[in-house]
Amino acid sequence: MLVDSSVAIGAAIVGAGMLGTLGGMHWRLRRSTSRLKRRLSAARSRAEDAELRDPVTGVLSRRGFARALDAVTQRPGAGPTTVLCIGLDAFRIIQDAHGHAFVDQLLSQVVQRLVEAGGPSCTLGRLRTSQFGLLVPGLSSPAMQIAEQLRQALAQPFEVDAHEVGLTASVGVASGDAAEAPRLLSRAVMAMSTVLLAGGDDRAEFDPRMAADHRDQAALVRDLSRAIERKEFELFYQPKVDSQTLQVTAAEALLRWRHPSRGMISPALFIPLAERHGLIAAIGNWVLDEALCQAAAWRKNGMRMRVAINVSGYQMRQDDFAARLERGLRAHGLQPGRFTCEITESTAMEDTAVTHRAFARLGKIGVHVSIDDFGTGHSSLAALRRLPAGELKIDRAFVADLAESTEARTIVEAIVQMAHTLRLRVVAEGVETVAQRDHLMALGCDEMQGYLFAKPMTARALSLWAADASAALTQTFSSSLFKETLALPGANASRPVLLRSQSAP
Ligand code: C2E
Ligand code: CA
Ligand code: CA
Repeated sequence: MLVDSSVAIGAAIVGAGMLGTLGGMHWRLRRSTSRLKRRLSAARSRAEDAELRDPVTGVLSRRGFARALDAVTQRPGAGPTTVLCIGLDAFRIIQDAHGHAFVDQLLSQVVQRLVEAGGPSCTLGRLRTSQFGLLVPGLSSPAMQIAEQLRQALAQPFEVDAHEVGLTASVGVASGDAAEAPRLLSRAVMAMSTVLLAGGDDRAEFDPRMAADHRDQAALVRDLSRAIERKEFELFYQPKVDSQTLQVTAAEALLRWRHPSRGMISPALFIPLAERHGLIAAIGNWVLDEALCQAAAWRKNGMRMRVAINVSGYQMRQDDFAARLERGLRAHGLQPGRFTCEITESTAMEDTAVTHRAFARLGKIGVHVSIDDFGTGHSSLAALRRLPAGELKIDRAFVADLAESTEARTIVEAIVQMAHTLRLRVVAEGVETVAQRDHLMALGCDEMQGYLFAKPMTARALSLWAADASAALTQTFSSSLFKETLALPGANASRPVLLRSQSAP
């Protein structure tokens, strides 16, 4: 076949042009591919960098910290290394109260102080929201000394948005050589958790026995989180009695946990655990609902005393606590003045702005507020005067020393006088002996509570005890064993006044 030469030439020309074009395209493609590759690898390394850095504080992330630890311990001739884990106690409470923006500012200040306290040879990383790791190559100074320096650095109050915040920290320490390097971080974390579970605000060095303790505590927290649905909680009640008439003025609800295998566990142990692990909200709500039901049932049976619950710091910070309480009171047809919220003095003084808000809300709905464990915190008279509380409970420690110590008597006398000046009722708790009772009566204490009168007991036992006591003591007791405790309506509704019981309804 003859080929038209012009066509052939044309085709050749087109082909050459095409090839040229293709070659150009290919070259451009290669250039843009390699540009893309470069960009991709830059983005990848930026992403990796970002993964290695904590975006909030700028220090290493958990992953970055683990890498830094590997790098240090695997260096040829690497000596012993120390890892510290710093956990900020009760941080969740601050986060819930103030939100993320506030917390981010606070954490930046925390990091600044930790970096300064650790010194230039140390590497800091953020392991979790409120947990930091500090890597100390070599053993420049004893590890526990560094731990203390870190805690001291955080002890001064922080200022965020014109708000003063106090922090405490739990520090765990683990040291070892290259062979132990992979386990150093988890050991430091375990030592920190051990401190935290024991109440926080301390430091500890890793000890192999901690591993077992830690598993045990973790299991306890898991069980605690299921205790409500498994119906393992119960409220016990301990009466408060009027010093003069010995009538029961109130019953304080004290939470009990019947663990299926460990038996009864003290609230002094599990309440702080619940606070630290975010379980206190559900438990607090359960206590509130249960106490309201019991108060209503007792009212129906003619038992006219107040019912008191213990309110945690977390509940004070909850915006809807007072509203929830008010709804509950209304649903059960209970008068707010017949219900008491006991709040410890140290909780009340933790964050005075939060306390004022919470007390004002409780005062507004007319609930009786009691300041518990008084004398152990550092409240000023001025601060107390501004709180719409109706009652002050003298801490057990002062009562215990009454008979032997003139100093304890002087303190109790001063507390009673001050409370009466502020028109607060004074309750002494932990009264165990007749001698203590007599001193308290002489010092003008209004009400008493303690084993001398009755131990905490089930609601049913309290009803039976009351009936028994009533029958046995009709000579000395007034017409009704239970005292009507009613808030005065009107201008100062938050300041409850006790009215004498007339007769049982
Ligand atoms: P608290 O509110 O100061 O309660 C008084 C504690 O002293 C109770 O211990 C009570 O059983 C005990 N007690 C009463 N009378 C005497 C006495 O004469 N002598 C001695 N030695 N002790 C006496 P419990 O029930 O173990 O409670 C410990 C703490 O746990 C309570 O101290 C309270 O702060 C907290 N708690 C108990 N129930 C709750 C709750 O429902 N919610 C919250 N947030 N805390 C609770
Ligand atoms: Ca109490
Ligand atoms: Ca108390």
